[in-house]
Amino acid sequence: TARIGVLAVQGNFREHIAHLDACGAETVRVRRPADLEGISGLVFPGGETTAMSNLIRLHELEAPLRSALAGGLPVYGSCAGMILLAGEVLDTRDDAINFSALDITVRRNAFGRQVDSFETEIPFDGGDRIRAVFIRAPWVEKVGPEAKVLAEVTDASGAPVAVAVQQDNALVTSFHPELTDDLSVHEHFLQMVNFRAEGPGRPSAVP
Ligand code: GLN
Repeated sequence: TARIGVLAVQGNFREHIAHLDACGAETVRVRRPADLEGISGLVFPGGETTAMSNLIRLHELEAPLRSALAGGLPVYGSCAGMILLAGEVLDTRDDAINFSALDITVRRNAFGRQVDSFETEIPFDGGDRIRAVFIRAPWVEKVGPEAKVLAEVTDASGAPVAVAVQQDNALVTSFHPELTDDLSVHEHFLQMVNFRAEGPGRPSAVP
């Protein structure tokens, strides 16, 4: 079984741990650099970007997380986690960390002016519809050529906006699958982890 680290300085890491447990993965709470040893995947939970950035610095995790990601460690970020992993962030504060794991531009609190929080059902990765919970969520405003959109919703004007994106070993969702009883997003992430584990010499391709 794969051991997955869940960043546990702030936010809803407990719910991610419960989902990964339900998928049969082993989990470890990441609070110190040593917690990153021996993991084959990493989850950035939802929460609050600025608070999470400050706590990452306080726990001296920024450099170790950067080098883990630079080494191609599979990573999944939901909501605030998506913001931290994005290449570019709009409507953010300057002191939030930017890990740049994907070539995407996200807008913080993008749905905020119309609706603060909402739930809907959307197809995920060309498959079944899943229940998606959005809480002061970001959306993906620009997607680089290497990034693949796995789910979309429509904005207030009816235009599609991306809310789940994968690029190589990095997966992000605007919504919180850990707050529903659906395991498909976590299962998708564990497939990415297993795919990488089975082919260490492989280019960082995607399942
Ligand atoms: N709005 C939060 C932020 O910008 C993210 C919300 C969430 O993770 N549910 O940090």
